[in-house]
Amino acid sequence: MLRSLLLFLSERRALRRWMETSPAAAVLTRRFVAGQTLDREVEVCRRLNSEGILVSLDHLGENVTSDAEARAALDFYIAALRRIASENLQASVSLKLTQFGLDLSEDLCRENVAALLEAAHAHGGFVEFDMEAHPYVDRTLRIVTEMHGRYGRVRAVVQAYLYRSSEDVGTLCRAGIPIRLCKGAYREPPDIAFPKKTQVDENYRRLSEILLDRGAYPALATHDPKMIQHALEYVRRNGVAKDRFEFQMLYGIRRDLQRRLAGDGYRLRLYVPYGDAWYPYLMRRLAERPANLLFLVRNLFRS
Ligand SMILES: Cc1cc2nc3c(=O)[nH]c(=O)nc-3n(C[C@H](O)[C@H](O)[C@H](O)COP(=O)(O)OP(=O)(O)OC[C@H]3O[C@@H](n4cnc5c(N)ncnc54)[C@H](O)[C@@H]3O)c2cc1C
Repeated sequence: MLRSLLLFLSERRALRRWMETSPAAAVLTRRFVAGQTLDREVEVCRRLNSEGILVSLDHLGENVTSDAEARAALDFYIAALRRIASENLQASVSLKLTQFGLDLSEDLCRENVAALLEAAHAHGGFVEFDMEAHPYVDRTLRIVTEMHGRYGRVRAVVQAYLYRSSEDVGTLCRAGIPIRLCKGAYREPPDIAFPKKTQVDENYRRLSEILLDRGAYPALATHDPKMIQHALEYVRRNGVAKDRFEFQMLYGIRRDLQRRLAGDGYRLRLYVPYGDAWYPYLMRRLAERPANLLFLVRNLFRS
């Protein structure tokens, strides 16, 4: 029930406006969001890099409704690529194509993405394309595949909960496109996605084995100790070198596991969000694990 309430609240606009402009924001968000500015993001990134952890910078935002907003998102990301290069950070950027105008027009989105990849090419950067709900999957993979052909420097995301993902993994692997494998974060209907968690987990294990066998530097994005243990046993049994893949997790989540993997010499990249539009992101993380609410409440009382 708490989960549904949190998801419901994540879509309330008035609450979101109030929260995002409230002075309590920094206290509430600092565990899961680097801050509102690129400077704060870079500070967190430097700290993580000094601990041997890679980063993916995510400027928060989704579903823009005008060309100008899509253009603004592009500018934020170009600025991030410049800072990554000038400060020599071990970091990629991650973005959602609806931030770059996919709801407005595929052509506009493609133009914006191409401009970003030009900048990535100039600055030696790397761009990861998050996967959104199922109506976006074909268009996202089309754009990522085209950009891979033109520039390289891209990573696609595959969600293990979709029935189609096995086929997508095959196609992307044949094209040599790096993949981030996650379970999937959206509510999808049962004709599109496995309805049971056990089925999603089983597919995650199966796809991670395929990626570890023949993926181009795959990323296993999960906080699930069972998925991680399965991958670790698979790489040990099959002699997969530690530098042939990476684990990915979200900033602030399962820090115990993060420390353990990094300490054992595995490559770990944290997805570190920043920016003003943190409210829906934070509410989704709370809905995934309502126990995180306790952490937020404790922080509020401490401040
Ligand atoms: C780096 C990264 C990138 C992602 N990119 C995308 C994307 O592009 N598209 C997309 O649809 N989804 C994306 N996701 C989200 C993903 O699909 C899942 O919704 C999310 O990671 C939860 O699934 P899980 O694999 O961690 O395991 P779950 O089955 O949800 O949870 C298993 C265990 O993991 C731990 N855990 C999970 N979530 C939390 C939490 N919030 N707080 C504390 N512990 C937790 C708990 O121990 C839990 O028992 C991404 C996730 C990561 C880590």
